[in-house]
Amino acid sequence: MLPFKLIYSPDYYLPIGQHVFPAEKYRRIHQRLLEAKIADESDFLTPQPASDQDILLVHKPDYVQKLKTGTLSAREELEMEVPYSPELVRAFWLAAGGSILAAQHALKDKVGFNIGGGFHHAFPDHGEGFCMINDVAVAIRRMQRDNRIRTAMTVDCDVHHGNGTAAIFAGTRTASEPLPSAAASTLGRPALGKMRGAHAGDVFTISLHQHNNYPAWKPPSSIDVDLPDGIGDDDYLAWLDNALSSGLRQFEPDLICYIAGADPYREDQLGGLELTLEGLKRRDELVFRVARARNIPVMVTYAGGYARNVEDTVTIHSNTVVAAKELYAA
Ligand SMILES: [Zn+2]
Repeated sequence: MLPFKLIYSPDYYLPIGQHVFPAEKYRRIHQRLLEAKIADESDFLTPQPASDQDILLVHKPDYVQKLKTGTLSAREELEMEVPYSPELVRAFWLAAGGSILAAQHALKDKVGFNIGGGFHHAFPDHGEGFCMINDVAVAIRRMQRDNRIRTAMTVDCDVHHGNGTAAIFAGTRTASEPLPSAAASTLGRPALGKMRGAHAGDVFTISLHQHNNYPAWKPPSSIDVDLPDGIGDDDYLAWLDNALSSGLRQFEPDLICYIAGADPYREDQLGGLELTLEGLKRRDELVFRVARARNIPVMVTYAGGYARNVEDTVTIHSNTVVAAKELYAA
């Protein structure tokens, strides 16, 4: 038995038909975790959908109303890049409920996984990039409303910038202060990547992403690490280490929300970085190690992953559970 819970439902499946987003990945991860004996059935908990009240902690009433009544404009539906259906709305409400439950268990067990979620491109008033509801933001606001946490930090390692999350929590930013360039001192290669930063209010957002990729407009996170194309394991890990140290020097979160996208992988169809399977597991280990050393609970969500071979995406996401198991069971 794992020393933490995995939140999962077969209804996480997104009814979007033939799509670059492998909607069946959640089912396959569940299966892999069991078959490889990484987890057993008793490690899983089934979530309830988030309530409308929870969703409204983040999203605008007009937008929620349009989703519930199927009245998005053609343009709004196009921007979401997934075909609207009432079933899809239910899947996103369920994913948000899963992130809430994962956060609650993270606060109890130090780690909690949502075997789904991480829809970081959803804004308060619209969805985009396959994301309808920002489940991570909903979970943070719900934990704050319940007085379970005061502050949170998002650590977004999906290859795409966490634009929705940055926009949602930008309103809580209190001051702007440039960070010293991490590149020159630590990596000795100032031309590689760029770190931008500003202090945050009650939620500190970190995004590590490929600069030359969707979204074109990247609203500022508390720390943005703009990575150049083709960066590999060692450089990536150095940047992540740097961003985490810098963030945790500036800010004390009661909860870390780790958005463990599988798409920095070298074989990803929508990403242009060169991380290996091993490098991605080391990435997970780094996040967990830093959090554990400071006794900060971590809630994990999965976000994107578009490997040419979907089994690689499943391996990357399963390895995140393995990384936590190895560290927290020790
Ligand atoms: Zn992505």
